[in-house]
Amino acid sequence: MRIILLGSPGAGKGTQAKFLCEHYGIPQISTGDMLRAAVQANSPLGQHVQAIMASGALVPDELMIDLVKQRILDADCQKGFLLDGFPRTLPQAQALKDAGIDLDAVIEIQVADEVIIQRLSGRRVHPASGRVYHQDFHPAKISGIDDETGEPLIQRVDDQADTVRHRLSVYHQQTTPLIAYYLDLAALQTEKSPQFFSIDGSQTVDQVRAALIDVLGVL
Ligand code: ADP
Ligand code: ADP
Repeated sequence: MRIILLGSPGAGKGTQAKFLCEHYGIPQISTGDMLRAAVQANSPLGQHVQAIMASGALVPDELMIDLVKQRILDADCQKGFLLDGFPRTLPQAQALKDAGIDLDAVIEIQVADEVIIQRLSGRRVHPASGRVYHQDFHPAKISGIDDETGEPLIQRVDDQADTVRHRLSVYHQQTTPLIAYYLDLAALQTEKSPQFFSIDGSQTVDQVRAALIDVLGVL
């Protein structure tokens, strides 16, 4: 099973990815998590992308394409994978296609911008696992502490309101064209074209999950 989750920052991709990956026994490939790990490790890649990420801009396509192509070669991707945060631009989507990486499903999680601002200001993450919490909507059992490891949760530097607004405008300019791109691909209905689904992400976490189960049931 090869799945792409599309949706604005804060739409709930990471939250739902955890469940989908468990369900299908596939790895979650979160390009944001991979880049943050590189920043944390202070690797050459991390040094290169740190300021770009903090500003809310996108990392150059060539870098992202190389990173994902390499990751997909790992043994754990043989049964499939879920891409969370990639592709984010038309050249990234085209690169997947050119590399012969076909997909089963592309799922857009739709959430209005006003809701996003509220979600991201309360987002807290456990950096090592990528587990995501929200202060009000999905609180940790003990405030500020990861449920599974007991380690502290952090607030991402790019989740401040001004940066979030910038990330939303980047999303609308650079990533929303992917919706038409994948709709067109799905409409071809060839063996290689993915199915496209759009889900209302403004519902509760459980309702979104149920909607996902519903659409993926048909695959
Ligand atoms: P969110 O899902 O909250 O938008 P991510 O964790 O996916 O955030 O991404 C955080 C940042 O990492 C982005 O704002 C961008 O700078 C960088 N990034 C992640 N994935 C990509 C990508 N596919 N292309 C370019 N930049 C990316
Ligand atoms: P993305 O990966 O798309 O950037 P996340 O999964 O990190 O989004 O979710 C962003 C924030 O919103 C997190 O704090 C998360 O706990 C919260 N969240 C996710 N889904 C929902 C939902 N359906 N309702 C309310 N809050 C949600």
